[in-house]
Amino acid sequence: MSASVLVATLGAPRIGPRRELKAALESYWSGKTGSDALLEVAAGLRGANWARQHAAGITHIPSNDFSLYDQVLDTTVTVGAIPAGYGWKDGAVSHETYFALARGTQGEQTCCTHKSANDHAHTNGAAGLSALEMTKWFDTNYHYLVPEFVRGQAFELASTKVIDEFREAKALGYHTRPVLVGPVTFLKLGKSRDEHFDPLLLLPGLLPVYTEILRRLAAHGADWVQIDEPVLALDIDDATRAALRAAYEMFARAVPGLKIQLTSYFGPLGDNRATALALPVAGLHLDLTRASEQLDGVLKEAPAGLVLSLGVIDGRNVWRANLPAILDRIEPVMAKRGTDHLIVSSSCSLLHVPFDLALETGLDEELKGWLAFAAQKLDELSILGRALSSGRGAVKEELAASQAAVDARKASPRIHNAAVAARLAAVKPEDARRAHAFSERRKAQNEALRLPVFPTTTIGSFPQTGEVRKARAAHTRGELDNAGYDAFLRRETANAIRWQEEIGIDVLVHGEFERNDMVQYFGERLDGYAFTRTGWVQSYGSRCVRPPVIYGDVSRPEAMSVAWTTYAQSLTDKPVKGMLTGPITMLQWSFVRDDLSRADVCRQIALALRDEVSDLERAGISVIQIDEPAIREGLPLRKADWAHYLDWAVESFRLSSSGVRDATQIHTHMCYSEFNDIIDAIGAMDADVISIETSRSKMELLDAFITYRYPNEIGPGVYDIHAPRVPSVAEMEALLEKAEQRLAADQIWVNPDCGLKTRQWEEVRPALVNMVAAARALRARVEG
Ligand code: GLN
Ligand code: ZN
Repeated sequence: MSASVLVATLGAPRIGPRRELKAALESYWSGKTGSDALLEVAAGLRGANWARQHAAGITHIPSNDFSLYDQVLDTTVTVGAIPAGYGWKDGAVSHETYFALARGTQGEQTCCTHKSANDHAHTNGAAGLSALEMTKWFDTNYHYLVPEFVRGQAFELASTKVIDEFREAKALGYHTRPVLVGPVTFLKLGKSRDEHFDPLLLLPGLLPVYTEILRRLAAHGADWVQIDEPVLALDIDDATRAALRAAYEMFARAVPGLKIQLTSYFGPLGDNRATALALPVAGLHLDLTRASEQLDGVLKEAPAGLVLSLGVIDGRNVWRANLPAILDRIEPVMAKRGTDHLIVSSSCSLLHVPFDLALETGLDEELKGWLAFAAQKLDELSILGRALSSGRGAVKEELAASQAAVDARKASPRIHNAAVAARLAAVKPEDARRAHAFSERRKAQNEALRLPVFPTTTIGSFPQTGEVRKARAAHTRGELDNAGYDAFLRRETANAIRWQEEIGIDVLVHGEFERNDMVQYFGERLDGYAFTRTGWVQSYGSRCVRPPVIYGDVSRPEAMSVAWTTYAQSLTDKPVKGMLTGPITMLQWSFVRDDLSRADVCRQIALALRDEVSDLERAGISVIQIDEPAIREGLPLRKADWAHYLDWAVESFRLSSSGVRDATQIHTHMCYSEFNDIIDAIGAMDADVISIETSRSKMELLDAFITYRYPNEIGPGVYDIHAPRVPSVAEMEALLEKAEQRLAADQIWVNPDCGLKTRQWEEVRPALVNMVAAARALRARVEG
């Protein structure tokens, strides 16, 4: 038989099968254990990952894919790009400094898993050090720490982690392929503290540190090194392309014997294809799950000597692969290019999928039969490798099982719901349009709601106290029965309503005490959604999320939120706002089925929510908020794909929200801060009221809304809920005055930046009392 085909993963999940890294980190941070204990757990996880991949027959096993917190932070530390203020001069970087960069020194962290809460003065002193800013890694839900550069930034090799881990693996008997974040991607992901300074200009100073690393790796026996340049999947300019050429030409000259595997993922190379193919590297990785169509073009143009790494096993989703179909696609490539010029690989690092399906206890056997987590994906890669090396006959049973699983899923009645399909097919354009324009709706709403100017409200959740979480856990464990849990939640809700009335909030909320998570709560009440017990995926640092799995047509067996909302409404004469999670957010924070377009899955969710909205309206709820915090992060990586996405995203939101009378007021909420580039789409959502996060930018973010002349009403957040402090009346008044310079007084709502679930009542009570006072002060002024 021919030589064995190379098989690779681009990285393994590092949190551990049972989130061992999380436990070790949190114990270390709390001071319970020392750094030795942490490092021992980390080494154990690395060793186990190498052993598992080795056993599965992976030939290009990664090292330096592990991180105590984040691989971009590791790169920052490796090249000594530590911002001033952290007390680092040169030489090795301590754990204290590393975690100060990651988390700041007070330990005050972000409120939700979805965003960062750091400002950037990095001041020390009473306030402590702030962490580096955190943002999403491309279009994933993984967050990296944003490198921060200054003009004249110096670099030096300040950590030998990459070399140490290569040697550590070697000592254990594994010859690995070290992974580095590429120099161009690293600089492009960073930001500059000096205005108008492009970090890319720092490349000449950075490259010597990389060549030093490559030299040392080669000296220790590395033959392949994986360098990740996912910027190749983005719209980049000529300067960036030139930077890529400069970097890889330098590496080829400086370390000629070392083979570089250049990797890009999450999208096609597109217009960067010629650049990528011209780089002097030994291997090029292609993501063929996100962009299978790019293979033909690459095959036509790739130099004969180039090793192509075909990313065919999906590192971003949890579905079992169709192995025979993948072989149909890559066998001809192998025949043409030769066994030794091919690597079969995961599409990207397996960091983005849960660890091991075998540990899962929350799913039934049929569903489990359709899925593959990281451990199962190793097996899939191994089967592909054997089929390519020794022929399909060598893995006949495995291939048959793969085919059978795919066929079973396709045919299962659980994924098809004829009523949902029929309803989707019958959607008419007017279903996604309110009956009348905002100007008319507004009259009806003013009539019905009779709110003062500068009406006050909150974003939905009140503090999820220890008591609330304890009661929920006891209920889940069966120690608190339904009646007891229900009574507890009713008390909490009633208290929240009474308190909001007391302090004079205008549009009340029920408090969301019954909700574990804004997506999970609704997902658990929808058909087509499944929830795992162990399917954890790293979000940032020690934080993990368990995204639900949308496996089938989505429908709503019964009302999901009506009982709690109407209960709250029954306790007050003020309007209580119904609170729903929008279709795009429900989609974006889940693993989504791959046999239907995301647009159609989103529309299905939208139709289910539309029914919920109608039920709320029918039950007498006159204000309904549909949260869409995820609409911006759903944006495709390439600008050319934005319009299509925004089209169906906006249509989905409108499908969910347009089935109501003029007098019913639809709110939406988004908690992030960049609106400029999607402001038209936000306007097109046509919510009657939108609440956004603006307090930390001191209302500057509102500028987008002025240029665009946002026609509907807006609640610019005046209370920064990411920090444990109570803003004063004067502070919030000043923010509102700034808003008033940018918007019409009758357009402005008064509310916090986001939900209050991560805060303490001790802060929330005085903060909202002050917020109401600020609103009243402004009201008094306009009413004279
Ligand atoms: N209604 C949700 C809450 O208040 C919104 C959360 C969010 O925007 N992430 O918690
Ligand atoms: Zn929010």
